[in-house]
Amino acid sequence: MSAEPRDILDMNAFDGNADGEDDDTLLNRRMRNVGAASVLFYKQPIEMVRGRGCWLEAADGTRYLDFYNNVPSVGHCHPGVVAAIRHQLGELNVNSRYLNATTEMYLERLKATLPTRLSNILLACSGSEANDLAIRVAKIETGCTGFIVTKTAYHGNTSAVLELSPAAFKRGKPPPHVEVIPPPTAAAYGANIAGGFTDAVCRAIHALRGRGYGFAGLICDPIFSSDGIFPHPAGFLGTAATAVRSAGGVFIADEVQPGFGRTGHMWGFERHGITPDIVTMGKPMGNGYPMSGMATSPELLAKLCEDFGYFSTFGGTAASAAAGLAVLDAIRDEGLQENATNIGAYLAARLQAIAEADERVSEVRSAGLFIGIDLCRDGSPSEPDPGLADQLVNSLCERRVLIGSAGPYGHTLKIRPPLCLTREDADFFADALTETLRTA
Ligand code: PMP
Repeated sequence: MSAEPRDILDMNAFDGNADGEDDDTLLNRRMRNVGAASVLFYKQPIEMVRGRGCWLEAADGTRYLDFYNNVPSVGHCHPGVVAAIRHQLGELNVNSRYLNATTEMYLERLKATLPTRLSNILLACSGSEANDLAIRVAKIETGCTGFIVTKTAYHGNTSAVLELSPAAFKRGKPPPHVEVIPPPTAAAYGANIAGGFTDAVCRAIHALRGRGYGFAGLICDPIFSSDGIFPHPAGFLGTAATAVRSAGGVFIADEVQPGFGRTGHMWGFERHGITPDIVTMGKPMGNGYPMSGMATSPELLAKLCEDFGYFSTFGGTAASAAAGLAVLDAIRDEGLQENATNIGAYLAARLQAIAEADERVSEVRSAGLFIGIDLCRDGSPSEPDPGLADQLVNSLCERRVLIGSAGPYGHTLKIRPPLCLTREDADFFADALTETLRTA
């Protein structure tokens, strides 16, 4: 296999330098201001000025269909969310050490979507913080430091969770308290994905114990988004979760990507019929207002709080709760889970037809509006083609569609449009992909 593994920020990244002509372009200013850490999408970075529903508008007036970004999940600049934040910011925005009814109402509405066992929720501002808390809970509960993650997982950017994010490593690999296992693919485990994945978890537990770290837990994104999107067969995580518990570990579902309705279910773990010990969430939680959370049982949380209290200045403010409530309202009132299921199935069927007609498209995998499309060379699924993925991502952009890539080599097109996607939007994408493949 000739494709090289790529780190997550390398996918569809601008790789040029400042443009020499005019010192005051936004691009030059960005390069000066952020330096080596500047990460921009696309060969020609785009300046965006407005968003509505599934569409973004650039400074030059071009409108783009956004299939890239799963944060504005109920639609860019959703009027209900904007009004709720604006209203709350105009009334009161205090931290969670004061009582306020909006925050309590939000927590109760959020808890109603989760298994009853997970009845305590800590609010923070980023998925990274939520996962950082989760691994702290798991370490304190088990007295161990060993974790299992999948090969191209990404769980965030604090020092602790970066170590559990192989996808973020440009060189080197996770430290020895982290055991990396293949994601749930037929290529790794054959037809018995549940059995193969569970065996890999058990071997990893054994290895962590052998190295003296013990086993604290398995953290996984139930849709395995940065690994390349592997939702099938639904239920395959069940036996792995059981194995984790029998070994005394904690099962952490990182719902930062699939959570809040995208798979047609409120939570990605529901498709697997499991109740995690800890659920973390973020991205679409505030539709762009920075919010995240960690839900767990009162027993696990109490142990954490014996060692450290928890407070976040911005986590759980009244304004963030107002944003979160408006997101839950939109999901319910606009039938967005149902829409994710129905339009997701319609779009997946169109993409399947494209795959059947083109041997370079080796597989389409989907759950609701989370879809992965694998690209390969010469009709050979074992020959991933990240070059074609890069080409399609940039050509689709020229056809006014924004899309990202994922997987170890970046050969999987990653589809995550807002959940208010219409059939016309789905057709716009499928037609653009057909045309783009025709000329690629
Ligand atoms: N978990 C997963 C699965 C993610 O995809 C991400 C972000 N891409 C994170 C955690 C970290 O979230 P944040 O960037 O909000 O810290």
